Amino acid sequence: MHYLLLGLISLLTMHCSSAVLIPDKRWPPGSQLTVWFLEGEPHWHELVKATAREWSRFGNISFNFTAEKPLSGSHIRISFNGYDGTQLGKHESLTSTEPTMRLASVSKPKLPLKYKKRIILHEFGHALGFEHEYRHPQWPYGPAWIEYQTQRCINKLGTDNNHVNGHCQTINRTLKEDDVWQFPYDDQSIMNYPVSANWLDNRPLDIKPSYSLSKLDKIAMSMSYPFEVDSSITNKSESLTRSIDATFTNHCTSEIEIRVLYSKRQSLSHRITIPPTRKSAPIGVDSNTLAFKAITQMGDIQWYSQTRSNGYLIYPQVGLETNSVNIPLYCH
Ligand SMILES: [Zn+2]
Repeated sequence: MHYLLLGLISLLTMHCSSAVLIPDKRWPPGSQLTVWFLEGEPHWHELVKATAREWSRFGNISFNFTAEKPLSGSHIRISFNGYDGTQLGKHESLTSTEPTMRLASVSKPKLPLKYKKRIILHEFGHALGFEHEYRHPQWPYGPAWIEYQTQRCINKLGTDNNHVNGHCQTINRTLKEDDVWQFPYDDQSIMNYPVSANWLDNRPLDIKPSYSLSKLDKIAMSMSYPFEVDSSITNKSESLTRSIDATFTNHCTSEIEIRVLYSKRQSLSHRITIPPTRKSAPIGVDSNTLAFKAITQMGDIQWYSQTRSNGYLIYPQVGLETNSVNIPLYCH
């Protein structure tokens, strides 16, 4: 009974399975997070290290991995037993020896590599404070999937228990705009679940699983964990700026106006209007950053509660692998 209860508590603190970031769960930007492998084969460790570092390419966070017990405590502790799930973001239990992340799928020899990578990226997203994309305040597809997820959670953890019922509702309900840093809702986010179209209002197609960070995941990471910008270096390296082409796809039922800043110093902005379901022509951006905002007939698409960027999403070019980027836009 005691062990059962412990097991239940452990499940409740895990987050079984854009981006939506819970600001209280964000680690301080620039943190070096110690990741302790509590067990597991060396080749599992290598896969986790190589895959998790994808997140740190786009934001100011780094991971120090070790299989030995770290003397100064650990931020993320990985077990390969049980299930896949992660405690959300920052916590104070640095000296504990209990896992904060479980990656059982990584230990399954027959599971294809791309699924393992998807799970590692998704769980590390939770470890950085990112929530499930279907909890996004602007989730555009109605309540059926959220209700289904809640019921599935209750069935898994046990019915006839008010605590479980409440917990399953809490971890699945739509997040409030004031409680999160929200970036544009994104079907392709690694933090989304694959969802059959049967559960989705106004959408005839399934949401397919993603196997890599989406463009908007990278934007969310770069804005949530910003690199320090040294202005003297920025000025000197201005000649290194490359030009990129940005396109936007309107997945809404009404027109969207896009404003793109393409010269930060002169505050020049470029405006275009995209009809519903259409993709814009490429907009050339000559800047160290891609900065844009979107306005619908209902007003700005609210996607980032910090006001310092004046409603613009700002994406450092350092995060772009190519000279073109397509940004999908969805409406509530
Ligand atoms: Zn999850």
